[in-house]
Amino acid sequence: MMPPFEYASPATQADAFRLLADAGAMPLAGGTDLLSLMKDRIVEPRRLVNVKGIPELRAIRTGSDGVRIGAAVTLDEIAAHPQVRPYRAVVDAILGIAIPQVTSQATVGGNLLQRPRCWYFRNGMIPGADADLRYHAIFGNTGPAKYVHASGLAPALIAFGASALIAGPKGERTIRVDQLWRTPAATGEDERTLQPGEILREILLPPHGERGSATVEIRPQGNAAWPLAAAAVVLDPTGASVILGHVAPVPWRSAAAERAIAGKTIDVAVAAAAGAAAVADAKPLSGNAYKVRLAAAAVRRAVLAAAGKEL
Ligand SMILES: Cc1cc2nc3c(=O)[nH]c(=O)nc-3n(C[C@H](O)[C@H](O)[C@H](O)COP(=O)(O)OP(=O)(O)OC[C@H]3O[C@@H](n4cnc5c(N)ncnc54)[C@H](O)[C@@H]3O)c2cc1C
Repeated sequence: MMPPFEYASPATQADAFRLLADAGAMPLAGGTDLLSLMKDRIVEPRRLVNVKGIPELRAIRTGSDGVRIGAAVTLDEIAAHPQVRPYRAVVDAILGIAIPQVTSQATVGGNLLQRPRCWYFRNGMIPGADADLRYHAIFGNTGPAKYVHASGLAPALIAFGASALIAGPKGERTIRVDQLWRTPAATGEDERTLQPGEILREILLPPHGERGSATVEIRPQGNAAWPLAAAAVVLDPTGASVILGHVAPVPWRSAAAERAIAGKTIDVAVAAAAGAAAVADAKPLSGNAYKVRLAAAAVRRAVLAAAGKEL
């Protein structure tokens, strides 16, 4: 049985900060991740603070600096928004989830700040020497964290150079989306960088301009399963961004793949070279070498799709 907890639904940020100030309080958005962790007693908050009633977190606004997406806007609302539609890699990532019960409830803030889907973490365990790591990291895995980052939206938002507005009792700060996480240096350390009492208020996507983009996720057995590897690619006249998902404890930028594309006309050979470059430094764990090939394929296909040259 779940331990008892308080529930609060503030209508203002100030009230949310007051309610989140107590140790043991946690923000709640769509609940599609947090409630399952509570049912499994992996997290046991003493108070849930619903952030969906705070107007600043519920709006999508456009201006000369781009598109601002409130952290509590749902994935369905984002994918359907006419100003977001040109950011194809973002829309691809949402459509990839393909479970209406999830995308109608889940929010962008919750998607970015969801916890790893690692079967050891979800069962309150730490992988040992004989661990089954078939779904785990092929990059950034030399420390204690072997899991992969779960957010499907993160690679696309990072590839577009999005930033995150963090609000807390001490004021506001803006960081790049990739700074929302760090690879844990110690066992049990949270991969998220938000400080206690802070909330993610909104994501700013810079103006779209003349960019092409795509996210490609490779999933087993159809859409209901989690991706094994993913890549978000954004091409613009001056260069490329290539961010891999589901391959490391944090979203993983491939500078080598970006260099393989820079200044080139995209064709099958260039896309294949980018895929090969992306995984040249991969360090698979026991049982997950197959993910190296999948990550290369995701990059190759995303590069072609971003250039409008799907096979
Ligand atoms: C069957 C199933 C399949 C799925 N498949 C995929 C998939 O393919 N790809 C994918 O990306 N995801 C997938 N998901 C995960 C899903 O996208 C996440 O559960 C969801 O995005 C979390 O959003 P939420 O609003 O429900 O967050 P919640 O569960 O409410 O919160 C998640 C975490 O974020 C914190 N949080 C939420 N909002 C804020 C905020 N504004 N500020 C600070 N902290 C905050 C909460 O405290 C909590 O720790 C799947 C989930 C299920 C159940």
